[in-house]
Amino acid sequence: MLIIQKYGGTSVANVERIKAVAERVVKTAKEGHKVAVVVSAMAGETDKLINLAHQVSSAPREREMDLMLSSGERVTCALTAIAIEELGHKAMAFTGRQMGIITDDVHTKAKIEKIAGERAKKALDDGYIIVVAGFQGITESGSDVTTLGRGGSDLSAVAIASALNADLCEIYTDVDGVYTTDPNIVPEARKLDKISYEEMLELASLGAKVLQTRSVEFAMKYEVPVVVRSSFNDNQGTLVTKEDEEMEKVVVSGVAYDKNQAKITVMGVPDKPGIAAKLFKGIADAGIVVDIIVQNVSSDGKAADISFTVPRTDTKKTLKLTERIATELGAKGVDIREDIAKISVVGVGMRTHSGVASQMFETLAKHGVNIIMISTSEIKVSCIIDAKYAELAVRVLHEAFGLAES
Ligand code: ADP
Ligand code: ASP
Ligand code: MG
Repeated sequence: MLIIQKYGGTSVANVERIKAVAERVVKTAKEGHKVAVVVSAMAGETDKLINLAHQVSSAPREREMDLMLSSGERVTCALTAIAIEELGHKAMAFTGRQMGIITDDVHTKAKIEKIAGERAKKALDDGYIIVVAGFQGITESGSDVTTLGRGGSDLSAVAIASALNADLCEIYTDVDGVYTTDPNIVPEARKLDKISYEEMLELASLGAKVLQTRSVEFAMKYEVPVVVRSSFNDNQGTLVTKEDEEMEKVVVSGVAYDKNQAKITVMGVPDKPGIAAKLFKGIADAGIVVDIIVQNVSSDGKAADISFTVPRTDTKKTLKLTERIATELGAKGVDIREDIAKISVVGVGMRTHSGVASQMFETLAKHGVNIIMISTSEIKVSCIIDAKYAELAVRVLHEAFGLAES
C-alpha cells in the first residue's frame, strides 16, 4: 500500500516528538508499505511568525507573509527526514516547490491546482520515505511561494494522497479521532468510529478544527479515504468516508462551536430591490466570505436592518467597506459585535428526522442562553449566541442530544 501520514504541529512540536514520528513512519515502511509523510510546522511556530510580522506592520504584504510562513514547515520536513535516516531508512525531504505543488496566486489562502510530483514518485519507487513540507505551494510561474490557509497541511496531505493515488491518508494529531464535540471542552465526548464526508465537512466549516475544511472538501470530491488518529498512542482512529445507511439513523452526530466570528449590522436601509445585492457584492469583491445573513423589515415596511457574520480576522476590512457602502445606500448606521460565538449541531439523519431545531432552541432557552441569529441547512442548525455562553451551550447541547459516552 501507499500510505500518506500527516503529522500536525503538536506531533512535531520538538525533537523528541519528531524522533517518535520517525519511528512510527519507519515501522509503517517495515510493514511493507510505501510512505509519504506530510508535516506541519512545530506547534505555535506559525502563530509566532504571524505575530512577528504584526510587530513590524499592521497590514503586512501577503506575498512576504507566505514566504515567511512557509519556513516553519521547511524546518520540520528536513528534520523529520534526517530523523528517519538516523533510524537507518532512506528518506528525502521536499518543499512545496520540490514536490511540484502548483497553486493559484491568492496569497495566504491559495488553492492547489495541480501536483506534479514526478521526483517524489521516483523517490518512492527507489525505496525512499518522502517527507513533504505541508501548507505550502508555488504559483504556476514558479516564482512565488504560497500558503494554503491556516491548518492547510491537512489539505496538502489529502491532495498528495489523491495525486499519488494513495490507498490511505492518515491524519495524526493530538486527539485520537473525530469526537462528537471537541473533547478538550467536553470530556464526555465520544469518539466516532466513522463519519461521512458531508458531516465532517459541516463540522469542520462550523469550527471543529480537527480537519481543515478544504481538506475535507477535497477528500469528498476525490473520495480519498481519510483516517484521523493520534500520534501519541496506537488507538484506532476515525474513518472519514462515504455516507451509509447506518449513519443516517443517527440524527445528531456532533456539536461544533466557532468563536472566530463577528456580526455586523447595517441599520435602517431603505427597503427596496437591489440593496442587499449592492452590499454583499461589495463585500464579496473584497474576497470576504459572509456566513449567516438575517434581514428584518420594520413594521411600517419602509426600512430594514441587515445583519451578517464574517470571520473575525476580516472584521476591520469588512467594517470599513460596509460603512462606505452603508453611506451610499442611505443607511442610518453600522453596528459591530465581536463577542459572539456560533454553536451548531450536525447530522445527516436530520434530513429524515424533524424537531432538531426546536430541541436545540429549547435546550438553550432552559439554560438562559439568548439566540441572536439562526441559520439552518439540510444537515445542520446553527445559532449565534453571546460568546461567554459558548462552552456552556456546547456542553448542554451535547447532553441534550444524547451524544455522551453511554
Ligand atoms: P494539528 O496541529 O494536529 O493539525 P489541530 O489543533 O489543528 O491539530 O486539531 C486538533 C484539535 O481539534 C484537538 O486538539 C481538538 O481540541 C480540536 N477539535 C475540535 N473539535 C473536535 C472534534 N469534534 N473532534 C476532535 N477534535 C476536535
Ligand atoms: N502550520 C500551519 C498552521 O499553523 C499549517 C498547519 O499546521 O496545518 O496553520
Ligand atoms: Mg490542524
